[in-house]
Amino acid sequence: MNPTQSNYPVTTPGESAVMVLLVDDQPMIGEAVRRALADDPSIDFHFCSDPQQAIAVAIQIKPTVILQDLVMPGADGLALVRDYRANVATRDIPIIVLSTKEEPSVKSAAFSAGANDYLVKLPDAIELVARIRYHSRSYLALLQRDEAYRALRESQQQLLETNLVLQRLMNSDGLTGLSNRRHFDEYLEMEWRRAQREQSQLSILLIDVDFFKAYNDTFGHVQGDEALRQVAAAIRASCSRPSDLPARYGGEEFVLVLPGTSPGGARLLAEKLRRSVQDLGIAHELPRTGAPLTISIGVATLTPQVGQPYRQLIELADQALYNAKHGGRNQVGIGDPSGA
Ligand code: GH3
Ligand code: MG
Ligand code: MG
Repeated sequence: MNPTQSNYPVTTPGESAVMVLLVDDQPMIGEAVRRALADDPSIDFHFCSDPQQAIAVAIQIKPTVILQDLVMPGADGLALVRDYRANVATRDIPIIVLSTKEEPSVKSAAFSAGANDYLVKLPDAIELVARIRYHSRSYLALLQRDEAYRALRESQQQLLETNLVLQRLMNSDGLTGLSNRRHFDEYLEMEWRRAQREQSQLSILLIDVDFFKAYNDTFGHVQGDEALRQVAAAIRASCSRPSDLPARYGGEEFVLVLPGTSPGGARLLAEKLRRSVQDLGIAHELPRTGAPLTISIGVATLTPQVGQPYRQLIELADQALYNAKHGGRNQVGIGDPSGA
């Protein structure tokens, strides 16, 4: 015999739909409860006479209330109540224990096993329906609240992700994908303050493409843009630490922030970068026909003093870049902090 019988087809519980699962070994009780609930079309009723299948049936039909017998052959109703509570799919479903006993010790055991309510068999239909409705309603409210929280968490997560994308867009330069000037300013200021606190060395490279106006004039702006992208990629590739920040300073000028980097380390990196851009072999007409496109770099390193503005690091790198340009371009200039 099929232990699960229903007087209504299984439907998806709507907002106020009540789904009752009665677990009792006695078909007579099943029939009596079915009749007590039959007048109310909004209550779906399922009867399970085999306690061994109770959990599986509950998972399948998703009751909003379980009516649970305590004494069944070969099964302990209290153990079953604990099993519902231990299962994620059934742990919040309200359980009304149906017992033949009025004893306080039995009631107490039922509640401590996890029952929500206790009725002595057989309650009259009015009381039974009222309790079923009450527990069903609070269970559905709980489910709705959980669903609202889940949706809230999901939209918060989406917002977070959107903000991250926006942040990236706001911080990056459209042409090269490097950080833009705004983000560079923020980052340098932050690293400057950190270096001030930790009394560590902060280096920057100021990078400027040589004869770039002429490059545009000769090859056009579109090809000029492409050359800038290639130079930017070489600058990005020269960064080895997560704290190194390459940025487009403006036009055909770039900057590389190198926290915790000594003058020697910064100079080495600059020299390597200068060579790697030259090795890209982007053909130019200056300083002579067929010469590769090159960059000039100004290197500056400071251990910031208290009250010293970070502009001084940029100015130092700017002077170094000026020297590199005047020294003949395609070279690395080193800023002298003593100003000599
Ligand atoms: P120097 O060797 O002294 O640096 O000379 P230069 O010609 O590179 O310097 P100048 O500052 O005179 O010219 C920079 C040129 O860079 C002028 C400008 O048209 C070009 N430029 C700036 N931004 C862009 C850009 O986004 N795309 C392109 N294609 N060209 C740009
Ligand atoms: Mg320039
Ligand atoms: Mg230039």
